[in-house]
Amino acid sequence: MTVYPFFIPHQGCRQRCVFCQQQSISGMTFPPTPSQVSRQLASMLPLQGDGEVAFYGGSFTMLEESLQQEYLACVMPYLRAGRIGGIRVSTRPDACGSEVVARLKRHGVSTVELGCQSFSDRVLGLSQRGHGPEAAEGAVTQLRNAGMRIGLQLMPGLPGGSFDEARYSLDRALQLRPGFVRIYPTVVLKDTALERAWLKGDYAPLDLEQAVELCAELLWHCHQSGVPVIRLGLQSTESLDSGAVIVDGPYHPAFGQLVRSRLWRRAIENAVAKTAERRVCVAFADLGDVLGHRRANFDYFKRRFSSLEIVADDHVARGSFVLDGHCCDMMSKARYLQPLSKSCRLPE
Ligand code: SF4
Repeated sequence: MTVYPFFIPHQGCRQRCVFCQQQSISGMTFPPTPSQVSRQLASMLPLQGDGEVAFYGGSFTMLEESLQQEYLACVMPYLRAGRIGGIRVSTRPDACGSEVVARLKRHGVSTVELGCQSFSDRVLGLSQRGHGPEAAEGAVTQLRNAGMRIGLQLMPGLPGGSFDEARYSLDRALQLRPGFVRIYPTVVLKDTALERAWLKGDYAPLDLEQAVELCAELLWHCHQSGVPVIRLGLQSTESLDSGAVIVDGPYHPAFGQLVRSRLWRRAIENAVAKTAERRVCVAFADLGDVLGHRRANFDYFKRRFSSLEIVADDHVARGSFVLDGHCCDMMSKARYLQPLSKSCRLPE
């Protein structure tokens, strides 16, 4: 689905979460006015379409009610004209009471993304989120009752977090049966409380390798639950890629590919280790992820299995590979044995 995003950096936020710096992430200093949104929509939207206009980067439902209505009202004509299929907003889990949700519904909002970040009380407290894990459950109930599509955002690697905390948080998120998930491993951005903690040596983010390993496992569990992951890692932008705003942490412009490639590596490694056959056929469309970013998987396979050959073959279905005459589903072969629910006793 095409999303037409508008960034309203920190608008509506009553406090600043320790990790957050929306201006750096979005490259936007000020939010657009409703009339600017209206003008941009007129030129950017197709004459017919089912995409969504989205308001990201702040706590939409905590804006002044009149401003929420102004933003939504300027999108409504395009919804009525069939130029988009819906409106999406992102907000905090503790800002989705029944009246708020009813108002969103009346004004055409169809999808709400909740910045859950973690389901650990301790992690939420250290991140100065100002709400506990139960807020997400309450918000999801309200949104589901109103027939909204629900997206949940998680941030592994926050202060006080761990691999088990990330698994636990994903487990709790999946139990809420969201329509989709976004996973953003925490990075240290300039001008945040997290940067100050990092400078004092009180916080260390995951490194890239840890984040890729962890997110591959989380992605696999989402796949098993039938919940799409629509983003892994921060969207690459000029300011993020310049290196000027990221102080430390597992940012990579192709983070999603690194994670998908890790699952391919795991699947092929598991399968090849059980046979003498060294020729693996994959779909053309999967070849980039199979070989890995800058052929990292290819080099890894060469070291591990000296004569391994990876061949693109149009007859192989996407998401699978053929080895020794057998067609193998990548996700099945990449299997993680530990169920999320068993790894999740939080030391709080
Ligand atoms: S994480 Fe969300 S609620 Fe917290 S400061 Fe950023 S935009 Fe606001």
